[in-house]
Amino acid sequence: MADIIKLLPDHVANQIAAGEVVQRPASVVKELLENALDAGAETIKLIVKDGGKVLIQVVDDGLGMSATDARLSFSRHATSKIQKAEDLFNLNTKGFRGEALASIAAIAHVEMQTKPDTEELGTHLRIEGSEIIIHETTVTPKGTSIAVKNLFFNIPARRNFLKSNTVELRHITDEFHRVALAHPKVAFHFYHNGSELFNLPADNHRKRIVTIFGTRTNQKLVPVEEETPIVKIKGFITKPEFAKKSRGEQFFFVNHRFIKSPYLHHAVVSAFEGLIKSDTYPGYFLYLEVNPASLDINIHPTKTEVKFDDEHSLYAIIRATIKHSLGQFNVAPALDFDHDPNLQIPYGFKDRSAVIPQVTVDAGFNPFQENRQGGFATQTYKKQSAHWENLYVGMESKLGNDDTGSSISYESDTITGTIFEGEKESPETVTTTFQIRRKYIVTTIKSGMVVIDQSRAHQRVLYERFLKNSTIKGAVSQQLLFPLTLTFSTSEIGALQEIEDILVSVGFIFEKIEGESITITGVPLLVAESEVGMVLDQLITDYQQEVIGESFSHTDMLSKTLAKTLSVKTGEVLDRQSQLALVNDLFACTESMTSPFNKPVYITITENDIDKKFI
Ligand code: ADP
Ligand code: MG
Repeated sequence: MADIIKLLPDHVANQIAAGEVVQRPASVVKELLENALDAGAETIKLIVKDGGKVLIQVVDDGLGMSATDARLSFSRHATSKIQKAEDLFNLNTKGFRGEALASIAAIAHVEMQTKPDTEELGTHLRIEGSEIIIHETTVTPKGTSIAVKNLFFNIPARRNFLKSNTVELRHITDEFHRVALAHPKVAFHFYHNGSELFNLPADNHRKRIVTIFGTRTNQKLVPVEEETPIVKIKGFITKPEFAKKSRGEQFFFVNHRFIKSPYLHHAVVSAFEGLIKSDTYPGYFLYLEVNPASLDINIHPTKTEVKFDDEHSLYAIIRATIKHSLGQFNVAPALDFDHDPNLQIPYGFKDRSAVIPQVTVDAGFNPFQENRQGGFATQTYKKQSAHWENLYVGMESKLGNDDTGSSISYESDTITGTIFEGEKESPETVTTTFQIRRKYIVTTIKSGMVVIDQSRAHQRVLYERFLKNSTIKGAVSQQLLFPLTLTFSTSEIGALQEIEDILVSVGFIFEKIEGESITITGVPLLVAESEVGMVLDQLITDYQQEVIGESFSHTDMLSKTLAKTLSVKTGEVLDRQSQLALVNDLFACTESMTSPFNKPVYITITENDIDKKFI
């Protein structure tokens, strides 16, 4: 039989390798920024067009390359950073594989200009799909500029797979943040489509964090510092009250390299135990220094996962250090870290006193009666109820009475019809609700009982209201007596600007959005002034995490976010009136069975089901 195994030509091998190294424009950004840092740059410029699909350029003032090195840098396994296997255990550079430039050049049009300080003239290279098109001497300043154009031009499948420019830009920005946070002593400039997104002068860690995430971050930070024989820890955590519902501002750096480590993340979160709600996460920026020999960064080609020699000790040290910082800065009880039952209560409910359930039986009341006063009048189960009812008066006239709740009740009849089959003859049996474990509302029906998840039920109610408010009737706003000014980071402001139109469509009125602050003069009808900050935070996060995606209806996603943010939560005590109102409103919804996030809202248990348990 003839030999059939052949070595792949270089450009094919490079393309294959590229699949691993370059997943999207952000991967190119990471590799180029890291090369610039490895070259000892003091100032790095990142220029991006159309989410990196058209252009990614990195200009540095580092070492530069000789003509030969410039050409060689695009060969696979060509690196100046290690020479022998042992060097892997003493790495002080970001790169070491010598794969990045070769991979990038295999799948894009690359233009490089480079000059070492010592030379008069520099080198200009153009490579398209691994093929050298131009190689000439040129006049260029000291350092290196690499421009990567038309990424994946020769792999249409990959190109088509890229997300929208906005989404790709977000990934690039994340990558940029990681690199810039790890190297505060290096100045960075970041431009997208001609406008400057970030201008970061050389600074200390704290100032770098604040310049990136906005001035209001400063007050959130608590310093962390510890030195032990295995690790040196420096950095910041955010105060517990600033814990967020979303992951986001969580950064571990090991020897100036951003890493992901679910295990160490757990160490941080566990140090906050009892201080933050279980579904929120603290922010942190932790810089660890360990002996390079105790660290294996080789386990993943994109190098964000690492392996430590002594992970268990590291875990314990991080946890203890953070607890210590939390204690020192008076954000936690200093002496008793271990068990304070008060702290087991979710943070927001700590100082609230329990409410004795009022079980007054109102025999004449029937939440399922059809001639209620329309869906909106029963809004009593939030703390701001009185306030809201006033608002309702205005809205009712705005909406026009003909439509108030009538379409809704029509729908609700079908729903109630199905679950409360046979109830219609004797509806007076439903008179009482109970709240159990501050989580469920139980009400009886003739055939048995319904158990309602209070939070999901309220989400459903609010969701349909927001949807109706913004789509059917146009936005109904509530003017604020005094304009409200809130501060955000530049990237948050950017996100807000991108969704401004949608926010306006649900009733936000912005007077101005500039610098780091926005001024709001009107908010949607169902949002209380005190909740605006929280609502916007959540909206930005959802938008940034692509929850508010492009293919979906914006108003739909927005209504979901608002509903999620503003709904009564598990753990909140509801008085009887609120419970009844909630049950009422729920069954007035078009789709009361599922939450806006497709989770079941209630279950029914029939007498039969109960009987079976007693056999
Ligand atoms: P690695 O960084 O793993 O060595 P790369 O493919 O990223 O591999 O780069 C190959 C080589 O090209 C580097 O080892 C370095 O010598 C050179 N190089 C790349 N970018 C620059 C730059 N911006 N300035 C100076 N030299 C660079
Ligand atoms: Mg590199």
